[in-house]
Amino acid sequence: GALVSAHQSIGVPEPVKMFGTEAQKQEYLPRCAHGAISAFLLTESDVGSDPARLATVATPTEDGSAYLLDGVKLWTTNGVIAELLVVMATVPKHEGGRGGITAFVVEAHADGVTVENRNEFMGLKGLENGVTRFHQVRVPAENRLGREGEGLKIALTTLNTGRLSIPAMCTAAGKWCVKIGREWSAERVQWGKPVGRHEAVATKLSFMAATTFALEAVLDLSAQLADAGTKDIRIEAALAKLWSSEMAWLIADELVQIRGGRGFESADSLAARGERAVPAEQVLRDLRINRIFEGSSEIMRLLIAREAVDAHLAAAGDLASPDADTTAKAKAALKASGFYARWLPKLVVGKGSVPRSYDEFGRLARHVRYVERSSRKLARQTFYGMSRWQAGLEQRQAFLGRIVDIGAELFAMAATCSRAEMLRADEARRGQPGQGESAYALADVFCAQARLRVEALFDALWSNTDAVDRRLSHQLLDGDLAWLEAGVVDPSEGTGPWITSWTAGESAKTNVARHYR
Ligand SMILES: Cc1cc2nc3c(=O)[nH]c(=O)nc-3n(C[C@H](O)[C@H](O)[C@H](O)COP(=O)(O)OP(=O)(O)OC[C@H]3O[C@@H](n4cnc5c(N)ncnc54)[C@H](O)[C@@H]3O)c2cc1C
Repeated sequence: GALVSAHQSIGVPEPVKMFGTEAQKQEYLPRCAHGAISAFLLTESDVGSDPARLATVATPTEDGSAYLLDGVKLWTTNGVIAELLVVMATVPKHEGGRGGITAFVVEAHADGVTVENRNEFMGLKGLENGVTRFHQVRVPAENRLGREGEGLKIALTTLNTGRLSIPAMCTAAGKWCVKIGREWSAERVQWGKPVGRHEAVATKLSFMAATTFALEAVLDLSAQLADAGTKDIRIEAALAKLWSSEMAWLIADELVQIRGGRGFESADSLAARGERAVPAEQVLRDLRINRIFEGSSEIMRLLIAREAVDAHLAAAGDLASPDADTTAKAKAALKASGFYARWLPKLVVGKGSVPRSYDEFGRLARHVRYVERSSRKLARQTFYGMSRWQAGLEQRQAFLGRIVDIGAELFAMAATCSRAEMLRADEARRGQPGQGESAYALADVFCAQARLRVEALFDALWSNTDAVDRRLSHQLLDGDLAWLEAGVVDPSEGTGPWITSWTAGESAKTNVARHYR
């Protein structure tokens, strides 16, 4: 999954398809179609979530025919076996070019490219992920994607839909967990009945099944929106990535729990003892990275929140600006109050407040009404947050995180109800009699569970430990609580710096790049 995701959605095919010249499409797309694997190289040891400080440099040659690439890229998924790379590098401002972060298609086996390490992780053991050094690598100017300075835009635009690979993998993982959970929980007997019949396990099974149905609903809806191509699905794809990676992790964790000691045991060890080789712990390990790469959950929340709050900041203008003087603020307040005078009342009543609305969803209609009402409530709460903190709202990451998490749950609820209704309406044509009813049951339970999470998140918007958490974390970071760590033996001490630095130059290491075909 990660191989395909890195290749297909952020590697060469998608950015070339979206931003490439005709010549680039002719050159690279057939190669990819014939099996050339590609990788996407943005991250560096000192550049992670915040890519603006890229240290890899692409220096234009004097005659302008090429760039010379120098730098070291970290965690290059597929980088060990790739034939083609998309490399993000900073072009210095120069005569004839504005410079900035720029994307290049680079031949992975060009002179000066060395894969210095194949990295190893807690999961995804098969991932061909490396450290790649570029030393004076000549990249023809025609290999530049888009214009100089457009690299991040290209990366973010391709990621918009590219992120949907992760929900797809999460859905598949959820389905497998449900299958194993069902089979095992019916088979394993403790205290005279199958463990699945004990309520503590039954609630986990219910969560796993209902959430997996929702995962597929979110994936399907987002993917259909992406395929339709009529709407910017930046937010939907980001919500899908964030929510799916968090939920799939919880599902796999519950599977490990349900499997008891066997959940913690590797498939090889189980097989060696003569039992079925169920890789539950592997799935948990493999899923963990989804919450970190292609935008960590924290960064996804900020990204989505920014989209949501931007409308308010635009409406508030100087009101939200810490630099504006009192007169400017007063003027802005007057202008903003006009906007909000029209906008706020719309948030008080809506279709979800009308008792028999959304009747076409049968017994799910109450959930659809809840989604509609809660969406308005969410907008109102966001507004209150902005009134309270103004421009400082951006720093209230815990508040914004909850706002986004509520949005994600509501999105999942809406997708789930739609999918259940679609399956019901379509069951005869698809030759699946009765599926609609069970889909309704799954959606009903999922929505009931999601509503509890939403209510808890709404409560936590204004009743939380954020302030004391901030204070305590400052104390911790300042070293005031060092006594708490007394007695710790830390095996990592003295093994190396937290972050490697790199110096330009030829590689002194063996090239571990491999050809796979
Ligand atoms: C297996 C694997 C495969 C990968 N594949 C690729 C690849 O193919 N190409 C590629 O370019 N990169 C790849 N990466 C890199 C991956 O995208 C980054 O790890 C990810 O972007 C996070 O960056 P970081 O690890 O530097 O974390 P950091 O940015 O150092 O973040 C550390 C922590 O702080 C949080 N944080 C950071 N900034 C903020 C903020 N402003 N507000 C709140 N919280 C914040 C993060 O969420 C995280 O929890 C891969 C990584 C791994 C482990």
